[in-house]
Amino acid sequence: MLELRRHQWLEMLAEAWDSYPLEGCGLLVGASGAEAVERFVPIRNEARSSRIYRLDGSQYAKAAVQADRDGLDIIGVMHSHTHTAAYPSPTDVAEASKPLVPPDWHWVIVSLGWGYPELHSFRILDGGIAEEPVVLAN
Ligand SMILES: [Zn+2]
Repeated sequence: MLELRRHQWLEMLAEAWDSYPLEGCGLLVGASGAEAVERFVPIRNEARSSRIYRLDGSQYAKAAVQADRDGLDIIGVMHSHTHTAAYPSPTDVAEASKPLVPPDWHWVIVSLGWGYPELHSFRILDGGIAEEPVVLAN
């Protein structure tokens, strides 16, 4: 399960729209291993692509330092799909399977593929994809 406050959900949809026609991305910050997001941090897509994203290294580092200062952790990542469904692509699964990526990350995907934004969250473990429910809180 992933718990988002309404404003965080809106921030992620806005990041997807604002980045269009490129993929948008950002980090989910929360207590280590938590299901509730404390804040969403938009990060520049260094790849500047409509097909892939690469989190800007210095913005990522800044977000990680700030999270650490607040006793929090990076608990997941959001990115948008500009033309395809909100479902992890083979590239996303390969990314999630890299050795340094924490296995308990939430993988949020916002699709703009159907003309309106759609947000889904997944766990990706050992190459397997499991969708998790997204719960909206006030
Ligand atoms: Zn993707």
